[in-house]
Amino acid sequence: MTAYDQSTQAGRTWASGPVTDRAYCVLAGNPGVMTLDGTNTWVLREPGSHECVVIDPGPLDEAHLQGVMTAATRDDGRVALTLLTHDHADHAEAATRFGELTGAPVRQLGRAHDDLADGDRLLVGGLELLVVATPGHTGDSLSFLLTAENALLTGDTVLGRGTTVVAWPDGKLVDYLHSLGRIEHLTLAGTVTRILPGHGPDLPDAAGVLRFYLEHRAERLDQVRAAVASGARTPREVVEIAYTDAPQANWAAAELSVRAQLDYLHAHLSG
Ligand SMILES: [Zn+2]
Repeated sequence: MTAYDQSTQAGRTWASGPVTDRAYCVLAGNPGVMTLDGTNTWVLREPGSHECVVIDPGPLDEAHLQGVMTAATRDDGRVALTLLTHDHADHAEAATRFGELTGAPVRQLGRAHDDLADGDRLLVGGLELLVVATPGHTGDSLSFLLTAENALLTGDTVLGRGTTVVAWPDGKLVDYLHSLGRIEHLTLAGTVTRILPGHGPDLPDAAGVLRFYLEHRAERLDQVRAAVASGARTPREVVEIAYTDAPQANWAAAELSVRAQLDYLHAHLSG
């Protein structure tokens, strides 16, 4: 068995376009250290149906929203429902504006919008989505299972390149590990075979990438534990010891993950 190698994703080009029979990606023009190629706005539609579901309208960028509308209104399509994977601005900032443009409801976990809960079944024009609560990156992170394609739309819980940040203090490592374990179970059961992430290219080997994510988190915890044992006092000092493989541009984000890991070590492994 060959080990999964997430670095193969690094060389893949990624742009707007159809990804599966039901999923079309519109890439927002906001590339960066944290957003990789930019935010993926997913337009989902059952073949032959006119009704679309949009996941994560993205940043408040009119050109991007027009691109999403163009994709959604092809062949007499219309947006019937918008969903948010979580409330970070690069995914959700345009939610209100997009609701005005489409007249369609915008739903997410908690907050001001129509609430969603784990296990909810959404049926739009013959397209079925199941809500899978996956807290950890943030407390409100949801994934959506596109049952017809065994595809999981993961937002920032699993990314198309590299690994994600546990956005302390809202994000919690104990929740994140539980969510990764839950997604891994879905991959082992064959319920999820591919991942459509919130940033970067789609992941055709869901089981491999989940194994990689869980191994990566265990390695990082070991590195953080070792850094503390060697005398690192502050999260920054832990980053400087444990994250030497990460570019310095990512260190501010790494510091959040380190704070989440220190909380975890303190709560779960002391004594
Ligand atoms: Zn996020």
